[in-house]
Amino acid sequence: MTRIAIVDNEKLKEMQLKQYIASICPINRTGKECIKIEPDGKLSIDEHLCTGCGICPKAAPLAIKIINLPEELTTNPVHRYGENKFILYSVPTPSFGKVTGILGVNGIGKSTAIKIIAGVLKPNFGEWGRIETGYEGIIDFFKGTEAQGFFEKISKGEIKVAYKPQQVDLIPKTTKGKVIDLLKKVDEKGEFKKIANELQLDNILNNEISEISGGELQRVAIAATVLKNANLYIFDEPTSYLDIKQRINVSRFIKSMIDENNSVLVVEHDLVILDYICDLVHLIYGKEGAYGIVSGVKPVRNGINVYLSGYIKEENVRFRDSTIKFAEKPPIKKKHSAGIITSWGKIEKKLGNFALTAHKGSIHKNEIIGMLGENGTGKTTFVRILASVLKQDKGEISQKVRVSYKPQYLESSDELVVDVLKDAFHKHENQIIHPLNIVPLSLKKLNELSGGELQRVAIAYCLQQDADLYLLDEPSAYLDSEQRLILSKVIRDFIEHKGASALIVDHDLLFIDYISDKLIVFEGKPAIEGNVTGPFEMEEGMNRFLKELSITLRRDAETNRPRVNKLDSRLDMEQKESGKYYYS
Ligand code: SF4
Repeated sequence: MTRIAIVDNEKLKEMQLKQYIASICPINRTGKECIKIEPDGKLSIDEHLCTGCGICPKAAPLAIKIINLPEELTTNPVHRYGENKFILYSVPTPSFGKVTGILGVNGIGKSTAIKIIAGVLKPNFGEWGRIETGYEGIIDFFKGTEAQGFFEKISKGEIKVAYKPQQVDLIPKTTKGKVIDLLKKVDEKGEFKKIANELQLDNILNNEISEISGGELQRVAIAATVLKNANLYIFDEPTSYLDIKQRINVSRFIKSMIDENNSVLVVEHDLVILDYICDLVHLIYGKEGAYGIVSGVKPVRNGINVYLSGYIKEENVRFRDSTIKFAEKPPIKKKHSAGIITSWGKIEKKLGNFALTAHKGSIHKNEIIGMLGENGTGKTTFVRILASVLKQDKGEISQKVRVSYKPQYLESSDELVVDVLKDAFHKHENQIIHPLNIVPLSLKKLNELSGGELQRVAIAYCLQQDADLYLLDEPSAYLDSEQRLILSKVIRDFIEHKGASALIVDHDLLFIDYISDKLIVFEGKPAIEGNVTGPFEMEEGMNRFLKELSITLRRDAETNRPRVNKLDSRLDMEQKESGKYYYS
């Protein structure tokens, strides 16, 4: 097969349109049935007859995709969901004694691959009507590959899997009661106290699951997975909702649980964390919603560099047109000829038991300022004061600025995307709508969108407002690593073109490093006090923030991307001693 056809019949409701599409296909015009309307009314495309002329996707671009497969793809599919549906080629292979990462964009088959590895989904090898057989067929299919040995072990019951799902926010919908009861119930190792302590859950053990925060739910889900007696642990996005300190803690925890008798598989979009947790990595590439190919396993440093380069040499596949590059040095100081857009004296604000103090600072035109700090140290409160949504108790803000604000938690409704983003479609099609890939979502209602889709719409909504200062609270949440890098460019270009400024609160270090000109740092005790300083130049701000976390960063020699040094390694100790936490 050289090409595949993907048809979304949900988006092709009108029979008249289907008949029209069938009538314009040149193959159908010769009397053959390339595009067919099935007895149940669904439209299907015969991939063997289709010549890829491109006429039908033009008639229904949201419903039909015709995709040419790479010539180099000679393997058979591992799984296909149905006729004209998503195909997965190859699977990742966990290695004992190692943490293996999976890196790829959303919709490329990571969840399908994980379900197959976990034994939850039996692969059909592209024959979707096939009656499920035992493991012999699967072992035979993977003969001569590392996956063969893995499935042999699964078939003999030698591998027991524990799986942490991606969407921890769904847990309260199916699980009721206190955290302590849930953890005790799943504790097959008798280690519940130790694990709860390591994941800093002691203070919330008696809380109801329905009342804990996203970051707490994430750590409870990780604890519940680890407490199971398994030898393959799968963590699907273990750091969403966590701040950087918690991300590092969870990474160290996951690394510490590995020994030669078990293996760990991690899906993660935060590249600094993926790099830090994993020994090995598989890339998944292909076309979102159409097909996914799992690359051979690579050492993690090399795998992430290959991902950034967009080209897999061994497999001779280019999966992105451009290479992603990082600057070698911290950004050069910008000249502030464009002037200050707002400044503040010492601001104070008390909210219940929480006290915020922000030391004097200012924001210049054309600046993008990253905001770094633990959860609960007042980032949102500070942003709301600058936006005049909240009034400070003491201190002055010099200038009233027009602020557009994207909150951390996104609200949905039954409005259509195209209606919500009217201005962006009208004025910023090339700057916002196309790069954020919003056209395919345009006729969906907000409450029909996935987390990542809603995030992209909320960012576009924030940017389409006419403002001097754009405040984006956790814009990278739910986005894959590719979308995060695209988003950095969209925000950069937009702010420069508009002559405005932006404040970005985020916990992805690579994203913040890539996008920011300066940094504001939040210190203090979560939920008790927050101390805001800056904006600092990148080097000064990062040094201050990383010192708090006791981690040091180095730049990768090939790509200049930030990497976390191994704790107590020679470089880590040298950088700490010289006070250069942010690159030596
Ligand atoms: Fe027919 Fe294929 Fe052309 Fe579509 S792309 S009109 S199915 S030949």
